[in-house]
Amino acid sequence: MNKPIHMVDVVGQYARIRDEVDEAVRKVMDSGRFILGPEVGELECRIAGYLDVKYAVGCASGTDALQVAMMALGIGPGDEVVTTPFSFVATTETIALLGARPVYLDIQPGSFNIDPLTLETAITPKTKAIIPVHLYGQAADMDEIMAVADKHHIPVIEDSAQALGASYKGKKVCTIGAIGCISFFPSKNLGCFGDGGMLTTNDEELWKKLKVIVSHGSQTRYYHEVLGVNSRLDTIQAAVLKVKLQYLDEWNEARRKFAARYDELLTHPRFTLPARIPDRDHIFHQYTLRVPDRDRLAAHLAEQKIPHGVYYPVPLHLQQAFADAGFGRGSFPVAEQAAAEVISLPMHTELTDEQQKVITTTIRKFYA
Ligand SMILES: *Cc1c(COP(=O)(O)O)cnc(C)c1O
Repeated sequence: MNKPIHMVDVVGQYARIRDEVDEAVRKVMDSGRFILGPEVGELECRIAGYLDVKYAVGCASGTDALQVAMMALGIGPGDEVVTTPFSFVATTETIALLGARPVYLDIQPGSFNIDPLTLETAITPKTKAIIPVHLYGQAADMDEIMAVADKHHIPVIEDSAQALGASYKGKKVCTIGAIGCISFFPSKNLGCFGDGGMLTTNDEELWKKLKVIVSHGSQTRYYHEVLGVNSRLDTIQAAVLKVKLQYLDEWNEARRKFAARYDELLTHPRFTLPARIPDRDHIFHQYTLRVPDRDRLAAHLAEQKIPHGVYYPVPLHLQQAFADAGFGRGSFPVAEQAAAEVISLPMHTELTDEQQKVITTTIRKFYA
């Protein structure tokens, strides 16, 4: 009997830790402390300890983490934020929501992360932040990015939604820039049972601002010092995450092992396998390769009922919602080419050898 292949398997993962999770959730329900119960603070401490960063603040999603980070830095209309055109929409959406303008840098073809070589040319007196994304689970070139940022006194916000646990030169991502943003969306490497997110910082002043902004701009109930939002991490989600955090390193290791196996099974002159950049580890939120004829392969895989994903088919500068930013086709050719060539394969902790064989054999046959 073959188990069905999933792109991610949150149900299978839950089954392994069901007793522990159920007990933690039941405890919250029995306590009735659904908003900012003790589990939220406990998780903040544990995530800070895990990352080796001074402060962590729970919030309602990775998207909110980005928005709150920019609010804490005072970003608003007229400001510019430098980021990547090749990411999930949240990175750009939150910049636009605050009335600021996203300014894109093209990506590196190997890592899919922003290319710091052109970073300096994108900076203007209006630049208020730089948001690198550690895409697919591998860190961006943080030394080069931080060097330019520090020279111009511009804060860096690390979008670490796909990279919790990944490190760069021995440091965990989320601890290098001024603020780190984490997502606990169910399919992320550390996922909860709904939406959730967290912010990290080593800066006490920023920490205080983040904490106040996520809770209606208020420290004392019904007294509001600054404009805030309602973006707290649910106690139930924190309880689930406290259990799952214990397994994160093990699960990231399992992903690396499955990635190495994919590499072996997919060695082929027409495929570009995911690059591992020296000095950092890849935690394979996605296993993403470049292939010729991507759309035809995707259609074939769909026919064969092999799950797959295209992250992302349209770069952010070409999305209709952001058309008024004024970038046309050809503005960021490396990102545009990546959008046409990438395909991501099933990647989660419950994959089996047999499933990886079926997936890779189907792909190889298509190109035979
Ligand atoms: C998932 C993701 C987000 C948003 O996180 P949510 O928790 O879904 O709001 C932001 N940036 C990137 C790169 C992501 O992958």
